[in-house]
Amino acid sequence: MAKDYYEILGINRNATNEDIKITYKKLAFEYHPDRNPDDQDSLNKFKDINEAYQILGDDNKRAQYDSFGSISGDGNFGDMGFSSNLNDIFGNLFEEVFNSGFSSNGQKGRDLKYELTISFEEAAFGMEKEIVVPKRELCDTCEGKGAAPGGDSVCGVCKGRGSVNYAKGFFAISQPCGQCRGRGYIIEKYCNECEGDGFIRIKKKVKINIPAGIADSSRLRIRDEGEIGMGGAPDGDLFIVIFVADHKIFKRDNNNIYCEVPIDFITATIGGEIKIPTLGGIEKFNIPEETQPGQSFRIKGKGLPDLQTGRLGDLYLIINIDIPNNLSSKQKKVLKDTLEDIKPQQFSNLDSYNKTLENQYKK
Ligand SMILES: [Zn+2]
Ligand SMILES: [Zn+2]
Repeated sequence: MAKDYYEILGINRNATNEDIKITYKKLAFEYHPDRNPDDQDSLNKFKDINEAYQILGDDNKRAQYDSFGSISGDGNFGDMGFSSNLNDIFGNLFEEVFNSGFSSNGQKGRDLKYELTISFEEAAFGMEKEIVVPKRELCDTCEGKGAAPGGDSVCGVCKGRGSVNYAKGFFAISQPCGQCRGRGYIIEKYCNECEGDGFIRIKKKVKINIPAGIADSSRLRIRDEGEIGMGGAPDGDLFIVIFVADHKIFKRDNNNIYCEVPIDFITATIGGEIKIPTLGGIEKFNIPEETQPGQSFRIKGKGLPDLQTGRLGDLYLIINIDIPNNLSSKQKKVLKDTLEDIKPQQFSNLDSYNKTLENQYKK
């Protein structure tokens, strides 16, 4: 059964050439494979739209189709001297058709950049956040025309089409009209709301998902949340640069986190339970006896998740030995007496240090 090209484009049989062209551009953009990656339905629809436009967009073929309900051959995409190869569609058909008055008028919206500082914990656990992005939108009052209601007239040169056509091979190629700068109309009275700009400044609320484990200075890209595209071209993208604030306790290296833990010299000597910070809260940790200053302990899986694999990094405790101050004379005496009980070789670092000194300076 022959396809109904009018139905495919969603237009009626009296549609003008201009209607067909505009509808085609709109649909082709909507179903463009670039905008619908890995979506077979959209791809099929995109092919149908192109097929329909090749017939209805051409006066002779449209007349033939209108009379006979089909075109020579069975109307299949590949049977009309067109390749169904997508590269060909992009490389030739798509580019050529769109370059005609589309890309020349249409301009992709600007990308926007937004800087966001989040806390160390927010980066560790991920979060949903709503940000407010100042951007330009089409003016509601004039719908982007820039003219006050009734304040515009149809351009005499292009008769409102915004473009002037000339033939190039199979396609009618068009150029933007110089008289109206491609608008299709002449503004006689500017819109009050946007002062003729066609755009207004708004503050758009955008929800963003920050993945757990995000690194400092990462960029998140949110498609189509940049500034509005011109002439039906796609909107720009929003880039969010994430800065992660420093933490009072933790330092970060990739997915591992480090913290310095002071312990008293007695616990360092004989071992004992201490409190340590983790991302999830305070936990207990057993310091083994004979722990030395600067020694580190690794606690597996208490770091940050890897963005790709989700695998957790580790937490490293770097031990700092705390020496008491303001001791009473009684406390000092107890310590001194205790120290005298300890044999020199029990201080292994000190012992080897003394021996080195002796060797170095012996006569
Ligand atoms: Zn306006
Ligand atoms: Zn014009």
